[in-house]
Amino acid sequence: MAMFYFGKLALCPALWKNIKPQNVCRMWSSTAVRKGLALPFSAQHVTPSRKMSTPAADLHSATVDKHLPLNKLSEEEEMMRDTVGRLAIEVIQPLVKEMDENSRMDQSVIDAMFENGLMGIDIDPMYGGTGSSFFVANLVIEELAKVDPAVSAMVDVHNTVVNAVFRSHASPAHKEKYLPRLTSDTVGSFCLSEPGAGSDAFALKTSAVKQGDYYIINGSKMWITNAEHAGVFLVMANVNPEAGYRGITCFIVEKDAEGLTVAKKEDKLGIRASSTCMVHFDNVKVPEENILGTIGHGYKYAIGILNEGRIAIGSQMIGLASGCLAHTIDYVMQRKQFGQSIWNFQSMQHQISRVATQIEAARLLVYNAARMKEAGLPIMKEAAMAKLFASEAATETTSKCIEWMGGVGFTKDYPIEKYFRDCKIGTIYEGTSNIQLNTIAKCLATEYQM
Ligand SMILES: Cc1cc2nc3c(=O)[nH]c(=O)nc-3n(C[C@H](O)[C@H](O)[C@H](O)COP(=O)(O)OP(=O)(O)OC[C@H]3O[C@@H](n4cnc5c(N)ncnc54)[C@H](O)[C@@H]3O)c2cc1C
Repeated sequence: MAMFYFGKLALCPALWKNIKPQNVCRMWSSTAVRKGLALPFSAQHVTPSRKMSTPAADLHSATVDKHLPLNKLSEEEEMMRDTVGRLAIEVIQPLVKEMDENSRMDQSVIDAMFENGLMGIDIDPMYGGTGSSFFVANLVIEELAKVDPAVSAMVDVHNTVVNAVFRSHASPAHKEKYLPRLTSDTVGSFCLSEPGAGSDAFALKTSAVKQGDYYIINGSKMWITNAEHAGVFLVMANVNPEAGYRGITCFIVEKDAEGLTVAKKEDKLGIRASSTCMVHFDNVKVPEENILGTIGHGYKYAIGILNEGRIAIGSQMIGLASGCLAHTIDYVMQRKQFGQSIWNFQSMQHQISRVATQIEAARLLVYNAARMKEAGLPIMKEAAMAKLFASEAATETTSKCIEWMGGVGFTKDYPIEKYFRDCKIGTIYEGTSNIQLNTIAKCLATEYQM
């Protein structure tokens, strides 16, 4: 039986999978009451008003009056974070350099992600998932990114995009058919972008034409993460181009469908071990029952899922920045010039403190957006802000870290240059920084009723 890494101990996945969000919430509530603390942010927003007068209500009222710090994790969240951190160091770290050089994810890493329940983090255990939460998925993405942002990208797209579409929009029959595979051994890809449709994603040209009980899909998708290893593709295609974006429909397409070709793998600047490929659809015949959700609702699903996905990219960026800074601080404390550690120079300390503050601010934006999502609150603005700010903080961090390391930071003998390369993607995928700014501006215009 596969075991979950927990230091020298191994934790049975069944135990990990038993930690359901509702249990976490229950445990949180009782611990919070015992300690006289507030409920987690998500619970605060679903609890009744504080004006009740019974003793129990007074106790409840006392608990909601104090707010927990955003980055205060529950015991379960902390345990999962630490466990994944250890898994990343033990299983992924030894392979990072080689995977980056070869631009290829090692199969053992993919297997480890499945075996340890990290490919179905917030999926119900009845489908083989871990039954945890969106917030925990973000903690996992952050921890993995500290060690290898490429592995983090694979786990991110699989969980917070592909699994999320199934969890939120698929029929019970589709969930039953696909989720047990997606949580156990089958990687998923999400196919929206095309050569002519990037930021303007809904200008996509891939078509799906009805023929009897089937649809025939034609078109090419570009930049598809995980495509090299994927067994299931979620494909956005237009069934009615005259209706514009309202014709966009989500199809489930199997890897071995005739006419589907995973083509050119991009030779990228960063996150090189995460595969990014063109995928061609040449008269791919897909049964009508493979429409996920409702015809013409593909654009809605994409908008919603990418909002959530942006929080996860924020998590990837804070993990990456933290990992990079940790390596760098280690180095500058040991490196001696002018007869002393270069850490001792106040100008170094001030610069490092400034960057550490930016990472912390980014983490708070990301955690707040993730907890808001779990509370069922609107997150469009907060998700865009979290991704924008976290990717900018990571850019600043990795660039400065190279400078603080001096010449060695510029070489491949240290991991800093890889973090620098890897972080660039944060300002591009799931909406470029300009697109995040457009979204934030749109939300502001609504708030200020312009
Ligand atoms: C490594 C990688 C992995 C990816 N994974 C996936 C995936 O799994 N699935 C998927 O569907 N897609 C994926 N993508 C695609 C990604 O989401 C797009 O690359 C991204 O949305 C930008 O589109 P584009 O590259 O066509 O750039 P363009 O849209 O051509 O943008 C170029 C520049 O123009 C600016 N710009 C464009 N429109 C505006 C505007 N209205 N206002 C201001 N500025 C604007 C942009 O900000 C950018 O600076 C991935 C991309 C990469 C690089």
